Amino acid sequence: MHEEPVLIDPPPAATIDLDGLHALVAVLRDRGYCVVGPTKREGAIVYEEIESADELPAGWTEVQEAATYRLERRDDEARFGYPVGPQSWKRYLLPARVRLWQARKRDGAAPEFVEEPPPERPFALLGVRSCDLHAIAVQDRVFLEGAYVDRDYAGRREGAFLVAVNCGTPGGTCFCASLGTGPRAESGYDLALTELLEGEHRFVVEAGSERGAEVLADLMGHVATPVDIEAALRVTHEAIGMMGRTLDPFDLRDLLARNLDHPRFADAGQRCLTCGNCTLVCPTCFCTSVEDVNVLEDGAAERWRRWDSCYSVDYSHIHGGAIRPSSRARYRQWLTHKFGTWIDQFGTSGCVGCGRCITWCPVGIDVTEELAAIRAADGEVDHANA
Ligand code: SF4
Ligand code: SF4
Repeated sequence: MHEEPVLIDPPPAATIDLDGLHALVAVLRDRGYCVVGPTKREGAIVYEEIESADELPAGWTEVQEAATYRLERRDDEARFGYPVGPQSWKRYLLPARVRLWQARKRDGAAPEFVEEPPPERPFALLGVRSCDLHAIAVQDRVFLEGAYVDRDYAGRREGAFLVAVNCGTPGGTCFCASLGTGPRAESGYDLALTELLEGEHRFVVEAGSERGAEVLADLMGHVATPVDIEAALRVTHEAIGMMGRTLDPFDLRDLLARNLDHPRFADAGQRCLTCGNCTLVCPTCFCTSVEDVNVLEDGAAERWRRWDSCYSVDYSHIHGGAIRPSSRARYRQWLTHKFGTWIDQFGTSGCVGCGRCITWCPVGIDVTEELAAIRAADGEVDHANA
């Protein structure tokens, strides 16, 4: 018997249908959020501001392999039936280019400094996978929980409302299950959706915060039944077996520390173009540079921050030259930082297993393959001749 939907008086979990998904976007917009969600644009699934759930990539999925990405039609109308797009949410929380301040000097007076204000509307990020929730938590440690709080990141992050989507469609380069960072969102979200395609197309919704429960209470739906809950758990359980890659996380920090001269770094260095793609698509990489822009006739100046990369030769330029002049040195810096010294700095790995660096490396260098090769020859390297 079909029951009419009712206002949800937040239960532990509810189900909503496609109308409910539309209502979720509308409720978030009514509450003043800039809703950013996945949408299909120029042959990719990208994260952009959306005004309605109609803009979600219904019926599309991504095929991802090393150095390969393409969209394909699904044989259903899933709204979240793809792994992770080329962009990560850092595009909004740590934009690729952002003005930090402006200064203006008038009539001999002291310069006047104006700091860049935070975005006018807080973000509601819709469709955040568990790996990317972990990535946001990693960047929170870097920018909010260290000795210094980054003002711009804090302004973007603090009001952000996170709608997670439990992953039922991992890609060929995903390995979050190996790292314990997915596919099911365990914390760090306001609402978590699981899309169910069997039977009626619906979404199980769980609240992970008080404000998530408030938004859920504005939606029409049903209390989730044990059948819904079991179906939702099955989605992520099956996704574990669908990951295209695996990675043995055991002892990675020390494995890398004792293999700094491993010949695999020279091998990867020969293939690596030092293009920096892997760092730009990585949801945790945070290296930036600052640029000062002067407008002489106006007596004005601006300071901008932009993404940079440890693959850029200038990034390690200090007095006397760059300290990582070779592609081998830069590849080694990236890999050993991401999986090793990141743990010393921030108490966590810098990798969440999203697979983007594998998909978007133009020559298909694969972290899981490189680390497995280093592990396979651990202890066999002749360091004197490496
Ligand atoms: S290192 Fe690669 S797989 Fe790991 S989080 Fe970064 S982009 Fe994703
Ligand atoms: S590993 Fe691949 S993506 Fe990264 S800098 Fe080298 S060529 Fe570019």
